[in-house]
Amino acid sequence: MHDKVTRLEAAHMIAHSPTIFASVAWVALIMACCLLVVGRRRDGLLTVGAGLIAHALAYIGFMQHGNAPLWLTYSVANTLLSTALAFYSTSLFRINQQAVPWLRVFCPPIIMGLLMILLLETREPRMLTASGILIVQCLMIVQWARKNRQPEGRAHLLLTVGAAISILGILIRVVAIVTGMSDEMRYDVSNFRQTISLSIGTVTVMMLTLGLVLLSKERIEGILKNMALQDSLTYLPNRRAIMEQLEKEIERARRNGSMLAVAIIDIDHFKRINDSYGHLAGDAVLKHCASVMKKRLRQSDCLGRYGGEEFLLILPDTSREGVTIALDDLRTDIATTPTHYDRQEITHHFSVGVWCGVPGPQDTSATLLALADAALYQAKQAGRNMLRLAEDFSISSLV
Ligand code: GH3
Ligand code: MG
Ligand code: MG
Repeated sequence: MHDKVTRLEAAHMIAHSPTIFASVAWVALIMACCLLVVGRRRDGLLTVGAGLIAHALAYIGFMQHGNAPLWLTYSVANTLLSTALAFYSTSLFRINQQAVPWLRVFCPPIIMGLLMILLLETREPRMLTASGILIVQCLMIVQWARKNRQPEGRAHLLLTVGAAISILGILIRVVAIVTGMSDEMRYDVSNFRQTISLSIGTVTVMMLTLGLVLLSKERIEGILKNMALQDSLTYLPNRRAIMEQLEKEIERARRNGSMLAVAIIDIDHFKRINDSYGHLAGDAVLKHCASVMKKRLRQSDCLGRYGGEEFLLILPDTSREGVTIALDDLRTDIATTPTHYDRQEITHHFSVGVWCGVPGPQDTSATLLALADAALYQAKQAGRNMLRLAEDFSISSLV
């Protein structure tokens, strides 16, 4: 009795296979049109659209199984499906603006095309070969999605789940074929197993497309975030980014009771450089100084552009002796490596004011910067090209 009910329920769930192919083709075609209209070459979505067109054509081919020659409904259709997966893989690289490994990406559809012609007269070997190639391509998508994922991004998870479900759909066919039920897996036959396996085609189209669109969105968000936090001239963190970092480092040093050094570096007589050599030469000096300093610093130190010709340097876990040595080395580097611009040699040096200590409960970024700035003022007053520590100052002496 229970068995009969289950069989009846399963019978109700059997869909007409050519209708499933038609509905997947429609979904793919409509999504392809949308992406081809809104996609741009640089966002990598045009190749997703191309993949969806190939996907739709493949399913139109499968739909004709039994009414058109086998080479068309099997060999060409499976080659198109493999081409669709190759286009999705291409998008993974395009979205990240990376070189596409064309040979590796398009090898499977070429092999699929050749083997499907060679094995056309066979049944099980042909079906197993097609399934095997598609599974390999899904695994390649999983691997490339992981490799091309964005920091903190989640699109690769969608792609992985989409590819995994597609593999499941293909495995249902493989199990049927190896257990002698390949007849049940013909594209023009409708049964429960076929319904489940073919419906998964919709999942493949939906999840891979959604995953790739999301990956493109994450990539663009990443670029915008970088642009919002990076100085476009020196490629250092901009004022906003370095100030955020300063807040974090003060909090960390306070929590751990560790030493922290905060330095404001100001290029001496920079206006004169602009006036003598021109504004573009001034820009070149800023770029050069940023790159020289960046090379010298430890991984844990943070350097950012604080203002026009001012840089903010944060040195965590650094003693007064440590920061004095580090900044004297930086000062010597900048003073001894002139900027070469337009066949001219521009020499420069900087003054620096430093606050160094363990931040107390009343210390904020504003108070520490005010102390470092007062020390910088002292360095300028004392003749420039030198360092001053804020040891002799306190907030009360500033007001
Ligand atoms: P001091 O030794 O006292 O620091 O003198 P200074 O000339 O370096 O300082 P001042 O503040 O008088 O001049 C800074 C100049 O930096 C003024 C401004 O035009 C220039 N400046 C600010 N941002 C940029 C920039 O991005 N590129 C160039 N080329 N110049 C800039
Ligand atoms: Mg200045
Ligand atoms: Mg200056």
